[in-house]
Amino acid sequence: MKVCIDIGHCPSAPGAENRTYNISEYRFWSTFAPRLANYLRGYGHAAVIVNREMDGNGTGMTACVRTCNEANADVIVALHANAFNGTASGTETLYWHTSPRGKRLAQCIQTQMVKALGLPDRGIKPITGTERGGAQLRGTVAPCVIVEPFFIDNDHDYETALEHADNLCAAIAVGIANY
Ligand SMILES: [Zn+2]
Repeated sequence: MKVCIDIGHCPSAPGAENRTYNISEYRFWSTFAPRLANYLRGYGHAAVIVNREMDGNGTGMTACVRTCNEANADVIVALHANAFNGTASGTETLYWHTSPRGKRLAQCIQTQMVKALGLPDRGIKPITGTERGGAQLRGTVAPCVIVEPFFIDNDHDYETALEHADNLCAAIAVGIANY
């Protein structure tokens, strides 16, 4: 299986941030995406890392969808982190509401991420419109999920994710391998 690993957001618009640690969604995942790719290759899968701005020359959803589709992958996993009010906590995975394969992929990854981090299990969430990356979930050809393993604006969530980042990458790879 060929896996497209999409690093969410981009250098010029890096997504949600943690002010205490001066870290963004983009920077966190640009650090750890290669580790996820290595785990996937260890399970015998091909892995390609893409980013809308680095590879697609754009910062919006059009470039995001295009770079993901051009990877010609069997599945797409978009790497993000949640943000709300600094205290909300937990792990969730988003999928397109009419995609049974997306739903199955989401559940496989969600189960492993919850085991790896031990944060509250917020479950898998069907997306039905353009909210929360819906344009990516709808516009991609291969089954696609958006992972939000932790709340980046919650210091405890972020510290947990950083401490267990290697386990988190392994967990996402196991989830994909189980799909
Ligand atoms: Zn994001």
